[in-house]
Amino acid sequence: MAINYNSAIELALSSIKAEGRYRTFADITRLAGNFPKATLHNSKDKKEITVWCSNDYLGMGQNLKVLKGIEKALYLVGAGSGGTRNISGTTHYHVELEKELSLLHQKESSLLFTSGYVANEAALSTLSKLIPGLVILSDENNHASMIAGIRNGRARKVVFKHNDLIDLRLKLSELGEDIPKIIVFESVYSMDGDIAPIKEICDLADEYNALTYIDEVHAVGLYGNHGGGIAEKENQLSRLDIIEGTLAKGYGLVGGYISAKANIVDAIRSYAPGFIFTTSLPPALVAGAIESVKHLKYSKIEREIMHANVSYLKQSLISNELPVIKNNSHIIPLLIGDPVLTKKVTDQLLELYSIYVQPINYPTVPKGTERLRITPNPSHTREDMDFLVKSLNSLWELMDLSRAA
Ligand code: PLP
Repeated sequence: MAINYNSAIELALSSIKAEGRYRTFADITRLAGNFPKATLHNSKDKKEITVWCSNDYLGMGQNLKVLKGIEKALYLVGAGSGGTRNISGTTHYHVELEKELSLLHQKESSLLFTSGYVANEAALSTLSKLIPGLVILSDENNHASMIAGIRNGRARKVVFKHNDLIDLRLKLSELGEDIPKIIVFESVYSMDGDIAPIKEICDLADEYNALTYIDEVHAVGLYGNHGGGIAEKENQLSRLDIIEGTLAKGYGLVGGYISAKANIVDAIRSYAPGFIFTTSLPPALVAGAIESVKHLKYSKIEREIMHANVSYLKQSLISNELPVIKNNSHIIPLLIGDPVLTKKVTDQLLELYSIYVQPINYPTVPKGTERLRITPNPSHTREDMDFLVKSLNSLWELMDLSRAA
């Protein structure tokens, strides 16, 4: 019998379309120096839009020091790194950035990966293989990259309820002290924007003799006196065994990393396929990241304006009875609860008001909790924010959407 490959692919596509979660992305050109304005390339014409869903939270992707750092390195050493570090060597920029990141997180050593996703996958899958009998205690809301790393490592996994210290304690106590274990969690959870109780998790880790692994992807650059994340802000850096971060969000570029004790980093460097078998980051981008990390170590203005914008916008949305999911972070989720309606809202925002927010649906969030995810930037003005709230309010009325969060 002939195998019909095409119909299997078409079936997969049509089922995702029927659920209303077929993914389309706006085709945009960001305007450096004028962000969050961007040009939208429609099929027929172009128009200026305001971006409200960028994870370049501080606008560092257009910071002049960063751009100049990239440009200078680009013309000094060329475009690509030339291969994996095992085959083609380490560029000096990589060495310098790893030193900067170790200082930032107060750790002995750091290691760069091509993305935050790869960093999590590589570090967690490798740790599982390095430590015999390791049990991974994983927060139920952990990111897909951590879940992939845990799955690929094939260690035993115990999932604890999200940010639930009672459940974590119960699961730790069931394992007992003599079993090697690592608690794996995030600081800022990117879809609800809630923050983990880091100190209390570290207390439990001490009590039950467990290692700790924290993903600070949505916090580095944004929190702490030097941008070292929530762990820096809450004075917990020394209590975390492995800190994972990204250069793609608060730092405005691309790439991921881990920071930890030298021998942990050395072992992951030596064993992780996700490090060994892929070309390292382009040196010019690493040079840009050095500028970004160094800048945010001492400049607080970007953080301060961004957080002030977040407070203003959250307050304004709440007082207009729009369904904000409340949290203590810079992420503003606005609940809609239906994939088709969410897409309709984002289409209308773009068409009627030139406002770009990407719809968030399953599997990024659970079904029934589809939402908008709004991320104010230091360069959004009060006018931009007032216009956003007014436009959302009009749409909520027009479409008779629920105002219950
Ligand atoms: N960890 C978390 C919690 C994330 O939300 C993401 C991406 O959004 C990643 C890791 C992956 O980071 P990157 O975008 O650098 O691959």
